[in-house]
Amino acid sequence: MNVYNHYIGAESIQPATGEYLDSQNPYTGEVWAQIPRGNADDANRAVATAKTAFASWKRTKPDARGKLLLRLADLIEENSERLAEIEVRDNGRVYAEVSGQMKYIAEWYRYYGGLADKVEGSVIPTDKSNSFNFTRHEPLGVVTMITPWNSPLLLLGWKLPTALAAGNTVVIKPSEFTSASTLEFVRLFEEAGFPPGVVNVVTGLGTEIGTVLVSHPDVAKIAFTGSDTAGKQIYKSAAEDFKHVSLELGGKSPNIVFEDADLEAAVMGVISGIFAAAGQLCIAGSRLLVQSSIHDLVVERLVEVARHTQLGDPMNPETQVGPVTTPLQFKKVLDYIDIAAKEGARCVLGGEAHIDADGISRQIIQPTIFVDVDNSMRIAQEEVFGPVLSVIRFDDEEDAIVKANDTIYGLAAGVWTSDIGRAIRMSEELEAGTVWINTYRDVSFTSPFGGYKHSGLGRESGVEAIKEYLQTKSVWISTDPSTENPFVMR
Ligand code: NAD
Repeated sequence: MNVYNHYIGAESIQPATGEYLDSQNPYTGEVWAQIPRGNADDANRAVATAKTAFASWKRTKPDARGKLLLRLADLIEENSERLAEIEVRDNGRVYAEVSGQMKYIAEWYRYYGGLADKVEGSVIPTDKSNSFNFTRHEPLGVVTMITPWNSPLLLLGWKLPTALAAGNTVVIKPSEFTSASTLEFVRLFEEAGFPPGVVNVVTGLGTEIGTVLVSHPDVAKIAFTGSDTAGKQIYKSAAEDFKHVSLELGGKSPNIVFEDADLEAAVMGVISGIFAAAGQLCIAGSRLLVQSSIHDLVVERLVEVARHTQLGDPMNPETQVGPVTTPLQFKKVLDYIDIAAKEGARCVLGGEAHIDADGISRQIIQPTIFVDVDNSMRIAQEEVFGPVLSVIRFDDEEDAIVKANDTIYGLAAGVWTSDIGRAIRMSEELEAGTVWINTYRDVSFTSPFGGYKHSGLGRESGVEAIKEYLQTKSVWISTDPSTENPFVMR
């Protein structure tokens, strides 16, 4: 049994209450680790430490901050397998995917390490004849980062190097279900040479320590990834003292297949969008919009491919779909399957928990496909966050756009077509932060990611994301300080 502590000021700090929470392996059911059940005292201590560290970190030259991030990127690669194993043990995602992801995370640290000393202000040509005006981009201060359980280190990697490159210090609160990989990961900051207090981690429940961190007066910004329910509470709480906020929330993304598409490629893209990671993807293409003329053909092929999905132990390299992460999520997905059936949708694949060969159910849900889904049904409107696909028919391009956009969410959308004009028209019309044409789930450290509508605010990755962690100051210098009339604007 591994017993973890908070990580504050580069020290291992026991929770103020002395209480710990169990971390359970979703596949074996074994409690393999304990993490601190943090409270307000722990949150205050971490924020105070980050605030003290900010005073010198913001003055550390950007190239020096960048070099530390580059060193860290190398350490991430060196430790990627160890970190991947911990994450799989904690959230049950298949090792084959997590190990690749873990190496790839290093690229975000490298990218922002390189960008750190390229944040430039401007000299502004103003209308004033006797003034010189320029801008500076300055860090915000202490940033609280709150992450979910589906990809703890990847999603942290979309925020943390950006904030650090910009000169902020950070307090991280990972999900109470999957804190171990983050607690192990932050040890690498010491090894890379980061000063103590620049990065801190406290753990515990969102409703206990999370709420304290997001309402703390010394926190300047909250960078949150999680559900829209928690996102809304955080946004309201941040308004109290005008904190900066970025929110990466849920989705109900349409994956739209036109009759002119390469159907084999489309079927693989649909499968990757909904069954990878057992559907626990914010970008899950959970609504398949398929043109009526090819509906039966596409469904038949989908069922044929998806029925051969390898289910089981996430550490087995052959496994394609492992368990869902938490018992609560397992129940929630099965409840949605019941709801869909009651609403009149017809299940053509799966629809039940998977039982392993030894007769034991290990929190795995069979890849499930519902047809005869109407876009107004709950199964088509609410985020399931599991391997459940809703198939919805459309007649033509216009109908596809109306149905695709008829959701409160706007995280992503996929379009499968061989018509380039249609591809461009669809990319313009779809209300989503990411549109994939003839592909699905492509993301990169170079390209902005974020949501429209209830899927969130702000962007991560790419050059523009660093602005999310900076504030702009306009500096005026007079070249002729004489003032004729102080009561009239110069
Ligand atoms: P969640 O909202 O329940 O929890 C996320 C984190 O917020 C956890 O660390 C939790 O402890 C904390 N939290 C919860 N309530 C809080 C509060 N009131 N104040 C402060 N902290 C609070 O989400 P989850 O179940 O862990 O993750 C699944 C959700 O995350 C899904 O909706 C999914 O779509 C979303 N997600 C979004 C993205 C994205 O980039 N858009 C990526 C992955 C997951």
